[in-house]
Amino acid sequence: MAGLLHPGLVILSGAGLSAESGVPTFRGVHGLWEGHRIEDVATPEAFQRQPDLVHRFYNLRRAALKSVVPNAAHDALVRLEQGWPGPFLHITQNVDDLNERAGAKKLLHMHGQLRQVRCLWCRCVLEWNTDLEVSTPCPECGRTGRLRPDIVWFGEMPYYIDEITRALQTASVFVCIGSSGVVYPAAGLVRLAAESGCARRIEVNLEPADVSGRFTELRQGPATREVPQLVEELLADLSR
Ligand code: NAD
Repeated sequence: MAGLLHPGLVILSGAGLSAESGVPTFRGVHGLWEGHRIEDVATPEAFQRQPDLVHRFYNLRRAALKSVVPNAAHDALVRLEQGWPGPFLHITQNVDDLNERAGAKKLLHMHGQLRQVRCLWCRCVLEWNTDLEVSTPCPECGRTGRLRPDIVWFGEMPYYIDEITRALQTASVFVCIGSSGVVYPAAGLVRLAAESGCARRIEVNLEPADVSGRFTELRQGPATREVPQLVEELLADLSR
């Protein structure tokens, strides 16, 4: 019951949230994802054309998770999740696992996860912490060549669209952290929030994103500085 009396809060995070943990962003300074063009590693066509290259790319990203840890912004978002009395949802575009390692529970990975694979044959989804090769048999159905990273590639439909839409329809506060606003449909969520009557729409970014006009506030600066400050303000506002 208490949740109905308190405003709903939706967070959308992007690669900028994990940047200070040492996970490179996508379109940041280098304009490429770790030196690769997205057409070569992050589309279903790339996987059909060059599955070995795509597996190598995600094997390296998965292995790199072992050498990074959550930062002060991930930690602050968990404090917010635990202290927010109303409906709370953190939607992340990130495929790393830093939010859950910080303790996040009310979290949806709309673009999939590096530490999961799925089988195109039997459709099982499995936790996966080692390398994946074309020759790796699916542990469920035994077929080879059918396992793929559980990542939503360009041209594919993001996960949890219904849950995300429902949460935005009742949210009073929407916070977008470290997202360039060029990858759709994620970039369109601020518009959906605005059209659904969400009055407070806050952007946290080093520089205003492509969709900045749709936000009502900009907190400009690094996530590890801006997010903890914003979280303290949001929690303090509750007791006023
Ligand atoms: P993006 O890489 O396109 O943009 C990153 C944004 O973060 C930019 O607007 C930049 O100004 C901002 N930023 C960079 N450093 C920041 C900091 N320290 N503090 C605050 N903001 C900062 O990111 P996107 O919009 O999330 O789109 C990239 C897509 O690629 C995502 O869909 C995601 O699936 C994938 N990706 C994921 C990861 C990850 O899991 N960590 C990393 C790279 C790419």
